Amino acid sequence: ATMPPLLSAIANAGRHGVLVKSAVAMERLGETDTAALDKTGTLTEGAPEVTAVRPLPGSGLDEERLLALAAAAEHPSEHPLARAIVAAARERGLPIATAEKFTATPGEGVSAVVDGRPVTVGRARDAVPGPPREPHGAQAAGARPDAGPRERGATVVTVHRDGVPVGTLALTDRLRPDAAATTAALTALTGTPPVLLTGDNRHTAARVAEATGLTDVRAELLPEDKAGAVHDIQRTGRKVLFVGDGVNDAPALAAAHSGIAMGRAGSDLALETADAVVVRDELAAVPAVVRLSRAARRLVV
Ligand code: ADP
Ligand code: MG
Repeated sequence: ATMPPLLSAIANAGRHGVLVKSAVAMERLGETDTAALDKTGTLTEGAPEVTAVRPLPGSGLDEERLLALAAAAEHPSEHPLARAIVAAARERGLPIATAEKFTATPGEGVSAVVDGRPVTVGRARDAVPGPPREPHGAQAAGARPDAGPRERGATVVTVHRDGVPVGTLALTDRLRPDAAATTAALTALTGTPPVLLTGDNRHTAARVAEATGLTDVRAELLPEDKAGAVHDIQRTGRKVLFVGDGVNDAPALAAAHSGIAMGRAGSDLALETADAVVVRDELAAVPAVVRLSRAARRLVV
């Protein structure tokens, strides 16, 4: 017997490194007419590096003590920013204290008790992040000199201790090599450029949008805001394909007509919520499976 077209398409998607969870999921992929993309870990590699450590004057902390404090609070977290902060502290050989009462708030940051004092590391709401002090910060953080072209806008997080801001850390992440080609392919497939939905600050979001040809950028979104943005687009009659990787993307993956999760560094919740998972770490597989779905649907009566 010949295989039904949607099942053949699932097998083909597998060859592109994409796990599509069902025939219905395969079919829905090709019904989408608008793409919405997460930034961190989706358009970017999701492997940021600390490029600047800035204690606030009067905090009583130097760069090393600030970084060690942040690393202690972030140590239990799986978030890419947390991993980068812990790695930077380790590279400098700093002691990382054991935190107590750790909690993580998706899209916001972490809090913990370090050496008996409450510490938070998270979104810098009111800060206007300038360009990271690249040469100094990058050397201090032990960044590889061959790191290649980096996204210029930095993600800035603020460290609070005892409820008082004590400093900021700047982190930068590289664009995926196939990010611009993928947004161009999705624009051609859907007739409209993808929308960028991110929890990060406006400045970093604008840099990534510029580099990938996107114009509709929505930044500083909480996880439920990302889902809200998807609902808003779908209320106009469009069917959204959302691509994301984090716990913070799960509500948007669930809200979208079709959701794809980036699998390599993706959170379990994102992988469970999505209709399809990009197992091989290539963003370009996303437009490829949309094309496969459309071709299969033409064969299904
Ligand atoms: P994105 O939508 O770009 O994938 P997230 O929703 O995961 O980003 O995070 C949004 C913002 O929340 C981050 O840019 C950062 O400022 C803050 N944040 C989230 N998790 C952490 C964390 N573990 N440590 C510090 N800041 C965090
Ligand atoms: Mg993400």
